[in-house]
Amino acid sequence: MKKYDNLNVKIFNKKNIMKIIHKYNSISRNEIAKLTGLKQSSVTRLTKELIDEGYIYESGLLPSKSPGRKRISLSINKNYIKSMLVDMGVSETYIGIGYYNGQVEMLYSFLTPQTPKKFFAEIQKYYKKINENTDISMLVFSIPGIVDVNNNLLINVPNLGWHNIYINEFLNVDIPVLADNEANLSILAEKYHSKILKLFENIVFVIVREGVGTGIMLNGELYRGKYFSAGEFGHMTIDLNSKEMCHCGKTGCWEMFASIRYALKKFKDELKGDPITQFKKMKELPGARKVLTEMAHNLGKGLVNIVNSLNPEVIVLGGEIVDMPAFFYEEIIKIVRKESLKPAGEKVIVVPSIFKKISSNILGAAIYAINYVIENIK
Ligand SMILES: [Zn+2]
Repeated sequence: MKKYDNLNVKIFNKKNIMKIIHKYNSISRNEIAKLTGLKQSSVTRLTKELIDEGYIYESGLLPSKSPGRKRISLSINKNYIKSMLVDMGVSETYIGIGYYNGQVEMLYSFLTPQTPKKFFAEIQKYYKKINENTDISMLVFSIPGIVDVNNNLLINVPNLGWHNIYINEFLNVDIPVLADNEANLSILAEKYHSKILKLFENIVFVIVREGVGTGIMLNGELYRGKYFSAGEFGHMTIDLNSKEMCHCGKTGCWEMFASIRYALKKFKDELKGDPITQFKKMKELPGARKVLTEMAHNLGKGLVNIVNSLNPEVIVLGGEIVDMPAFFYEEIIKIVRKESLKPAGEKVIVVPSIFKKISSNILGAAIYAINYVIENIK
């Protein structure tokens, strides 16, 4: 029994050390000992194991306060795992490679086939192609819908009309496959890469695309709910009198007023192509500012409900609105400050995602793979 306990303690400590090295990126054994409360000798022994197993390496020397004392920095071995990342969008799907230090390299994109069979056949093709040159050890999906993360079950991908799709029934790969909702993954990315977010534990990420999805982190942990549909704020009713039917089966949903579809409806005769491309073009049209201000107003109204129900420290806004001009964010913040309960509404920080060129959810898919590796350290 004692031996078993010792092994558990050792694994716990190794995982903890890995989390710290991921958080700080470059850190000495001495600092690890201070942060974990472990003895220097234990840190030396455990980090040697982690180096031998390929997770980390000695990356150089850190400046030292006492002259003559060298402090060797430990860093993540970027190539320890390479995962194929799939950012499934309603209109377009993007594929990249995620590394063990959180970096992502984007490779391909294609129009999203509208049936699971065709979609996963396409993924299988890309997996084969990428795996020819790169040793892929994990496959991670970012999904615009509700995902049972324990069973890789796509419970509901509303904008595609997919229900109860088991990913593993469609894919033939012999590596671990992971999947999660795109807003949940986005939070992981912001938390990992953003200096500000490292300081907070209660975060809501709102992703605005064809729909509006939200991810919730409470006390530092993702909150998915018993049946994985927590954070479906896109379907909270904000207009009792609306006649327009949402795909969820009711009327008046927030996403009907706050997603890019709201703005596109107003310009439907002037635009062509998929919704994401249309939205990019729309922003240049005369009259766009008025419609975008309305959209920001509607987003703000929904955020008031979120602030009142969850009292988050930070709300991060991502998706197709990350590069919006200042007026858009000013309108949102104005509503949140004015209408939310105090002091939550006065204190909450509302910021755009730190990622402008690459979307936060695909970066989050890389972090999800990292977390999976850490959880499986032996
Ligand atoms: Zn709805």
